[in-house]
Amino acid sequence: MKKALITGITGQDGAYLAKLLLEKNYEVMGTFRRTSHRSLERLEVLDLMNKVELIKMDLTDQISINKTIKYSQPDELYNLGAQSFVGASFDQPLLTSNVNGLGALGIFEAVKEFSPHSKIYQASSSEMFGNSDEIKNENSRMYPASPYGISKVFAHKTAQHYREAYDIFISCGILFNHESPLRGLEFVTKKITSAVARIKANKQETLYLGNIKSKRDWGFAGDYVKAMWLMLQQQKPSDYVIATNESHSVEDFLTGAFEYVGLGDWRKYVKIDKKLIRPQDIDNLIGDSSKAKREIGWEPTVQYKDLIRLMVDDDLKLLEK
Ligand code: NAP
Repeated sequence: MKKALITGITGQDGAYLAKLLLEKNYEVMGTFRRTSHRSLERLEVLDLMNKVELIKMDLTDQISINKTIKYSQPDELYNLGAQSFVGASFDQPLLTSNVNGLGALGIFEAVKEFSPHSKIYQASSSEMFGNSDEIKNENSRMYPASPYGISKVFAHKTAQHYREAYDIFISCGILFNHESPLRGLEFVTKKITSAVARIKANKQETLYLGNIKSKRDWGFAGDYVKAMWLMLQQQKPSDYVIATNESHSVEDFLTGAFEYVGLGDWRKYVKIDKKLIRPQDIDNLIGDSSKAKREIGWEPTVQYKDLIRLMVDDDLKLLEK
């Protein structure tokens, strides 16, 4: 039985990945941090609570990282823990850098010292690329436009350094946005689908958004965690862009979601709140995942329109409970 350790198991991807690894008969351990509010809902929704071992660890606390790695000795370590919301990174740049950047360094260093056989997946991000018109692949220029993107570049480059200098198996997945019913409420897709369901049920009147012109390459998180696992089943570590290879604007997402439930024109319900406009934003992100298709046999299965329906349907169902 293979052992896997997931940092950030309480997050969207952590929960889906834990489910996938359990289906593949792994022993699954995951880290969670002490917060004043319980954050285990996603594990409960997927009925995973009694099936995974939870370990207390914070990426800003090297002592807890060292203890966790020494204890768990995982065959595969998925470093998903992060302050993952780009918007919040403008307000908390230092925290974001500590968790996402130095936290990743702390993981690599602990593996080097205490568990060098562990294969590592590092959660890199399309936000590392920043603004430019080209379709992004593994060799595209990195020019991030947020403290979040910068912290991910630090972790990405550090991962490559540990791979080359210390021969540690680290693969970086450069994942473009991926969504699901388990997506955090602050993220624009979930904010929209949740509001659409609530407006439909007469529980909300207005949805406030920031920049609705920006375009993203949106896929389904369930597909993307499969790519993480595939990366660690290869003979050699490498970096892979994971994306659907098409992008859509927030405006387009609004149209799809409001029309799906028969509410008609979204303009009747949406207001722009200037406070939600970020100091810097990326106009368009679109990925080229042909390397992943060629080398690890990965392709997305959920199309953009189906993703919208999947999320809206789930939000409607939640309101019935
Ligand atoms: P998420 O839902 O926000 O989950 C983040 C996880 O990190 C949560 O379990 C969170 O714990 C944990 N965490 C936060 N601060 C921590 C700390 N100081 N120490 C330890 N753990 C901490 O994010 P996600 O969507 O699953 O994304 C997973 C990873 O992929 C992240 O690294 C993210 O940056 C990256 N990524 C995501 C996307 C995307 O579109 N989803 C795209 C590219 C890259 P709590 O539950 O306690 O908050």
